[in-house]
Amino acid sequence: MVKFYLSPEITAHHAPITYILSLWGKHTGCAVTFAPTPEGALTIGTSADATFRIGGGFQPDDFRQVALSPMGMLTGTDDQPDILRTAFYLINTLQEYNAPQPDALGRFQYVNSYQHRLNVARENIVQRCFDAVSKAAGVAPRREKTQFMLSHDIDLVHRAVIEDGFNVLKKGRIDQFLAILMRAAMGRPDWLNIDQIVKIESLYDCRSVFFWIVNRGGLNADYTFHSPRMQRQFRAVTAGGSDNGLHKSISEESFEQELQKYGPGAISNRYHYLKFHLPQAYHDIEAAGLKLDASVGFAEEAGFRNNYGLPFNPYNFQTQKPFPFLEVPLHVMDRTYFQYKKFTPAAAEKDILSFFDQHRENCVLSVLWHNNFFTNYKFKGYLDLYKKILAYIRDNKLKTVSQQEIINQYSIH
Ligand SMILES: [Zn+2]
Repeated sequence: MVKFYLSPEITAHHAPITYILSLWGKHTGCAVTFAPTPEGALTIGTSADATFRIGGGFQPDDFRQVALSPMGMLTGTDDQPDILRTAFYLINTLQEYNAPQPDALGRFQYVNSYQHRLNVARENIVQRCFDAVSKAAGVAPRREKTQFMLSHDIDLVHRAVIEDGFNVLKKGRIDQFLAILMRAAMGRPDWLNIDQIVKIESLYDCRSVFFWIVNRGGLNADYTFHSPRMQRQFRAVTAGGSDNGLHKSISEESFEQELQKYGPGAISNRYHYLKFHLPQAYHDIEAAGLKLDASVGFAEEAGFRNNYGLPFNPYNFQTQKPFPFLEVPLHVMDRTYFQYKKFTPAAAEKDILSFFDQHRENCVLSVLWHNNFFTNYKFKGYLDLYKKILAYIRDNKLKTVSQQEIINQYSIH
């Protein structure tokens, strides 16, 4: 058990400090208590003799004027790192709370982030803060093997004829085009491959989560979720030991409306196009009764959108308590490399595996591979790259975890 003492001048910040120490305690395996006197306790206050010196408030506006050090840390008046406020600010991505200059879809942009400015998207800065708390408390820092959450957003299943078809026609491969067309005409379009993905993963002893869109047309799905053949694919996921969840469409419908269409059993969500706005999205997820969200990642860059490796309950400023659901940030996705960075599959492989190597401890690394990246035409090389990711997990004796395992292991609620 580790005892902390809050100096009288900071009792107004009791709730956020309790929150961040609860996260540290949960993830380090330590019970946290607060003592009425400073004797035998780690002290938190504004004076120079406090174990943890607090340099300001914890409301989103209190962080508006702050400058992060080149290492991504907030510092106090004496240039000492402000460990607890840094962890609180980073883990909850407070830089995006009502941030200006969203992109055309209303999303926070990587180019406007401190990660971009300081080039720290690959750094697990909050873990360093938590290690500093462990050190002060005289307990061993957390050193657990990294786990993986693999996932697939099912956006398109019919467009292979157009996208892969165009790709092979450009290369003059009429034979391949006819074959793609024939498979579609026979009711087995190439991107209706969810059951095949489940099989590939089972060869590597891996599991994953499939996120489904319940609205068809426009920028949403090109399939009807309730059609018998989509439902067969949906059931193949759970039959193969993997999980399903909702891929919230970009229509104006509420979670309640979409979950009604989805049917019973959804505990998780990822926003289609990663289109969400904080803090509103967190309130919507809570109101919908979901237990897990997997959306906090940059579309344009791999790495940490909150500079922390583990799933966490975000902080609710209205109730001054953690939200009841877990956020599982997204770290690596196919489209980042294909569309934004325009890497070859070989360059993407090097980048992804070196990121994994850098974080073999203290993370749940979340990887998104769309089902249409499993055909070898327009997205040639991406199936092999995904298999290399699966081989990396197996060969390093790492594990993929289910949604329920993540909830059981990491929730502080
Ligand atoms: Zn999507």
